[in-house]
Amino acid sequence: MTSRISRLVVAFVATAGATLGVTVANPSPASAAMTICYNTSQAGSFGGVANQAASIWNNATSNLTLSANCGNNLRIYSITGGGSYAVRTSLGNGRVYIDTQQAAQYSPLRIMSHEIGHILGLPDNYNGNCSLLMSGGSAGTSCTNPYPSTAEANRVTNLFAGTRVSGEDARSTGSQVFPDSWPAVLAPIG
Ligand SMILES: [Zn+2]
Repeated sequence: MTSRISRLVVAFVATAGATLGVTVANPSPASAAMTICYNTSQAGSFGGVANQAASIWNNATSNLTLSANCGNNLRIYSITGGGSYAVRTSLGNGRVYIDTQQAAQYSPLRIMSHEIGHILGLPDNYNGNCSLLMSGGSAGTSCTNPYPSTAEANRVTNLFAGTRVSGEDARSTGSQVFPDSWPAVLAPIG
């Protein structure tokens, strides 16, 4: 009996020691934040919305800082007609176009945050779920949610941390045009 208890105590101490050793030996690595400079000089009336969307992404991610007018990683344009869309040239770089007509139907902030999401590596996911930012216009005009889900935000953080491993994530960093489907809403027949 005594020897059995002794063995249990030894096992417990060894386990505690191993746990302590892991904690000390592998501290979380420090990661430097990446700055993405966006330019709103051609954003027309959407400059304020761009600043709001930048704050949303800064708060949702742990290693990104979107900063206004310090450079041209991301240029934001106001256009009229044709739909909003994004052109990503590489991860964190590109252009976003916000359609004034579309922004009169859908939440301008949701559109802006969604299009910036493409620049940050996210694909479309048109499943009608308003809790997802990348469901875009499929969630309808009543959906005004401008926030990425935890999964969407974490995916961006991982992309910029360089921890992507899957083929899909590898493609997320490349050049791509996202001609967004934010379907037009017909005026009610009256
Ligand atoms: Zn989209």
